Amino acid sequence: MLFPDTDFSTLRLPESLNLLRDDIRQFLDKERRAGSFTPHLGHGEFDVAFSKKLGERGWIGMTWPKKYGGHERTYLERFVVMEELFAAAAPVHAHWNADRQIGPSLLRWGTEEQRQRYVPAMARGECCFAIGMSEPNAGSDLASVRTHAEQVRGGWKLNGQKTWTSWAHKSEAMFVLCRTSPLAGDRHEGLSQLIVDLSSSGITIRPVRFLDGVHRFNDVFFEDVFVPDDRVLGKIGQGWLQVTSELALERSGPERYMNTFLLFCLLLDALKQSHDRLDRILIGTLTARFASLRRMSLAIAHAFSTKANPDVGTEAALVKDIGTLFERDIVEAVRTLTELVPIHDSNNEMERLFAEASIFAPIPTIRGGTTQILRGIIARRLEAAL
Ligand SMILES: Cc1cc2nc3c(=O)[nH]c(=O)nc-3n(C[C@H](O)[C@H](O)[C@H](O)COP(=O)(O)OP(=O)(O)OC[C@H]3O[C@@H](n4cnc5c(N)ncnc54)[C@H](O)[C@@H]3O)c2cc1C
Repeated sequence: MLFPDTDFSTLRLPESLNLLRDDIRQFLDKERRAGSFTPHLGHGEFDVAFSKKLGERGWIGMTWPKKYGGHERTYLERFVVMEELFAAAAPVHAHWNADRQIGPSLLRWGTEEQRQRYVPAMARGECCFAIGMSEPNAGSDLASVRTHAEQVRGGWKLNGQKTWTSWAHKSEAMFVLCRTSPLAGDRHEGLSQLIVDLSSSGITIRPVRFLDGVHRFNDVFFEDVFVPDDRVLGKIGQGWLQVTSELALERSGPERYMNTFLLFCLLLDALKQSHDRLDRILIGTLTARFASLRRMSLAIAHAFSTKANPDVGTEAALVKDIGTLFERDIVEAVRTLTELVPIHDSNNEMERLFAEASIFAPIPTIRGGTTQILRGIIARRLEAAL
């Protein structure tokens, strides 16, 4: 069976989830009217105050145990909240890494002390984490990371560099994938994950500015940074297994196909009176693609709801690959079907979001695994099934 843990047949969300959907819609509408946020595509702003409001309402760490500040709700309930946040282009950056993968990793691999230290604060929207995987010569080929840690009394001495590290300059700590024993034979062995406090001495964080000049990601340098033994995540040498287990969580959610959704809605609105054949074909095709993606993503959320550690890495790669191309095609559709000009500081929301989406367009097919790498994963599964 090609996808034993995932059922892609129609899955209807239970009616009970409509109440939750109404709740979050009303909240977002009220916040937007009150000026607490302006919609921005691609996860919006880094806004800790807004994340705290979501935390107060129980919309961060929704599936986590109550013992760690979570709410023991289902992955489908979390799915509804994510859909609404992205449909509204609300600011989610400040809690996104924590909610999506750092929290679940700590719950799976962390010690009791580590869980108690970080997870409840994450659920309140108060603890931001960065992800330290990529390096200048190790992005797609993650197993070739050179950042290394050597054992010293009471802990580890960390040296090396991470790059493209989103929001490290605003985060409290970072998961760092590093080599803890010399390269010998299998490159996936000898890697470990450390939880690094970003205020430790020996750390330099330098901005890498994005196309629009905004400081979102960084180079992070480690020079003899001391990391105590109690900040090793999981087991020394088990880093590869741990990191790859995060990836299904990282690649399958609505955030992989809904970054330009608000622009799509505005496009639908602009063309609703149109009888033009090309308009109708393009809009119909995009709508059908969205429906298929949603069903796939929902099926993966359902697998997480019903199985302990579902094997859904390939399915998640499919969602990300198809989803990120869908997002890009929305921008193309706006370009093709309207006379709109992208203007960054326009008062017209559609013009402003079109400008944002145009600048944002190269990102999704790179971050979180490039299209080519995802297709390699998918091809390997297909080959194995033949
Ligand atoms: C906005 C943004 C935010 C990011 N945030 C983070 C973050 O917070 N933390 C973090 O760790 N990383 C982050 N990244 C980094 C991201 O994960 C990497 O950019 C990505 O994994 C690709 O690595 P690379 O840039 O080194 O490109 P490379 O790996 O050098 O790839 C260059 C090109 O070669 C292709 N290629 C490489 N290997 C193969 C192969 N085997 N087969 C076929 N084609 C191949 C790739 O598809 C790509 O087109 C972020 C990136 C972006 C754009």
